[in-house]
Amino acid sequence: MLRFQMIEAALNHKAVEVSAPSARPSDYFGEKVFGRAVMRKYLDKFTYESLLSTMDNGTPLSLELADSVAAGMRQWALDNGADHYTHWFQPLTGGTAEKHDSFSDPDGKGMVIESFSGKVLAQQEPDASSFPNGGIRNTFEARGYSAWDPTSPAFIVDTTLCIPTVFISYTGEALDYKVPLLKALAAIDKAATAVCHYFDKNVSRVHTYLGWEQEYFLVDESLWAARPDLLLTGRTLMGHESAKNQQLEDHYFGAIPTRVINFMKELEYESLKLGIPVKTRHNEAAPNQFELAPVYEEANLANDHNQLLMTIMDKIARRHHFRVLLHEKPFKGINGSGKHNNWSLGTDTGVNLFGPGKTPSENLQFITFLVNVIAAVHKHNGLLKAAIMSATNVHRLGANEAPPAIISAFLGSQISSVLDNLERSTSDDAIRFDAKSVLKMSGAAQIPSILLDNTDRNRTSPFAFTGNRFEFRAVGSSDNCAEAMITLCTAAAEQLAEFKHEVDAKIERGQKKERAIYETLKQLIKRCKMIHFDGNGYSDEWKREAARRGLDCETSAPLIFDRYLDPATLKMFKDMGVFNQVELEARTEVKWETYTKKIQIEARVLGDLTMNHIIPVASKYESMLLDKAFKMKSLGLNFDSDMELIREIQMHTSALQGLVADMVEARKVANRVEDQRQRAILYHDNVACFLDEIRTHIDKMEEVIDDQMWPLPKYRELLFIR
Ligand code: ADP
Ligand code: MG
Repeated sequence: MLRFQMIEAALNHKAVEVSAPSARPSDYFGEKVFGRAVMRKYLDKFTYESLLSTMDNGTPLSLELADSVAAGMRQWALDNGADHYTHWFQPLTGGTAEKHDSFSDPDGKGMVIESFSGKVLAQQEPDASSFPNGGIRNTFEARGYSAWDPTSPAFIVDTTLCIPTVFISYTGEALDYKVPLLKALAAIDKAATAVCHYFDKNVSRVHTYLGWEQEYFLVDESLWAARPDLLLTGRTLMGHESAKNQQLEDHYFGAIPTRVINFMKELEYESLKLGIPVKTRHNEAAPNQFELAPVYEEANLANDHNQLLMTIMDKIARRHHFRVLLHEKPFKGINGSGKHNNWSLGTDTGVNLFGPGKTPSENLQFITFLVNVIAAVHKHNGLLKAAIMSATNVHRLGANEAPPAIISAFLGSQISSVLDNLERSTSDDAIRFDAKSVLKMSGAAQIPSILLDNTDRNRTSPFAFTGNRFEFRAVGSSDNCAEAMITLCTAAAEQLAEFKHEVDAKIERGQKKERAIYETLKQLIKRCKMIHFDGNGYSDEWKREAARRGLDCETSAPLIFDRYLDPATLKMFKDMGVFNQVELEARTEVKWETYTKKIQIEARVLGDLTMNHIIPVASKYESMLLDKAFKMKSLGLNFDSDMELIREIQMHTSALQGLVADMVEARKVANRVEDQRQRAILYHDNVACFLDEIRTHIDKMEEVIDDQMWPLPKYRELLFIR
């Protein structure tokens, strides 16, 4: 039987040797990237300096200079074994897209001509009508184009030069994640720089940093191939819990098996060559679950790196006879995978705005940014949840054995008490100036520079302050981090702009700057109190408490997506110049459509497996038992227990037949509905519920049917053979 052949194949998979690079990481780090050092070598001085100015300050690059960059880039690519190039972009599928073109074209006379010019580097028209677009491309223009993002360096994968690009419709609407991310980063730069000027006039830019932690599962490829559900949906739609899984807590930080460590080594080597500064690797809580994290980088680059990593990890895993599962909940009953987004803001003068400082003024600045972020998260908590919600992440957030689908902010005891003090104090006792007009603060002056919360972490919070950064932990392991970053940065930008407006008004009315800031912060702390929660986010009491506090507690993904079209959302994205209404409507449409399709695929796969794999096996086993019972009877022996088992199997079988038929019917009804939102709601309310019900019967049968007959690899095999 296939299952046993595959188990044998999996057991025979030996660790694939990786040739350890003899050089030190610093010798090969970024060797596949068209980075600054390489640029200097391959570009003339003027082109090099112009390109740097484009990268650092956004100065437009003329077509002539683009030609010159293209020539240098091409030469470097050829010198490094590349023969093709591609515009590499991030469509709304969540993955990346690429179409490879050769560097040279035949000229029809037996010769070749060079075809990589500045124009080709800068802009292309991918035949992309089949990417999700939520109707934008039908309503407006059928064409879309990709345009070079010079702030993220080109790189080589295999023999292809990849040029990071944005992807837009011909009428200018974003069809990807990069355009809005760049706009959101610009918005927060502007708003945060303006607020920094209260404290330091020398600040001219505020950068956003992102350090992602990528969790994933590895499964042996033979076992994976014998599980159509894993193969087609990325998760197991059935499977009885393994007797042992993570209850002994022996996997987290445990020894990493050789096969896995070899995969990790190769992944790290390839990542480093691509300039991805990977640093940490360890086992995660669940069996076969692992994590990889780089050092944080500027958010646009960090996000490109995460997208790139997700692609290469799949390729490398195959070489080691593994498959990577990026699904947020591939196995029932054990932990799912997330992608923590560590997020901070830093000035071009080198100050981390989420890190406490040494002077009262620095600390007032720190508290200003901290409180404004919390206020933004409070105001848009429903939208932030929408930004991380998907048909797959919904299993991690809001379903059983998972954190609830509620956004709250963890601050830790020290920061909490600083904010409490501030809220209770009056401006006269909190804000004083000494004889030399130097600010003295009680409350905020007591912040230690190293916050104890570094160790006092609350792992149940979806959005936690961790000493010098915020950690947005609700992001899904398969997500493009940009979606979370766009919303978070735009919300923070809007809040900072509003804060500046209020403080300026107070100053105009004659208040001293520090006092105006202090008074405004105090109001904000009061206003956003409800989002602050340091307790156990997984408890049932918190669900009730959060509802009482008026936080968004909706658990239905299609309804959560509605938050994208709330008046407050439309206003925020419009005011900050990130999305217009057309774009938001289109993107929400894509979310509903994607949700429906994912549930539809799962329902089809589970229906097929039930009817073609499970019921036939159950019937065979049942008929064996019937045969036995018949013989027992003819010998006059007691066959009650056999009959009991037969009845049990028969009960599950007929229940399954009924459920599958009902599920098909529910799909038909939903499919007749044209409106994407309504259809997604029907899929959520009337189709998705069958998936759990069906699996319950199958999982029960897995317990009683002869192991020799069971067709699909079991959890204990998927999770422990490696
Ligand atoms: P943990 O698992 O304990 O949260 P890790 O060390 O695995 O911590 O990951 C922390 C991530 O946070 C890394 O990517 C790290 O680079 C990043 N990080 C650290 N400081 C900052 C910061 N100031 N801004 C953004 N990311 C940060
Ligand atoms: Mg973390």
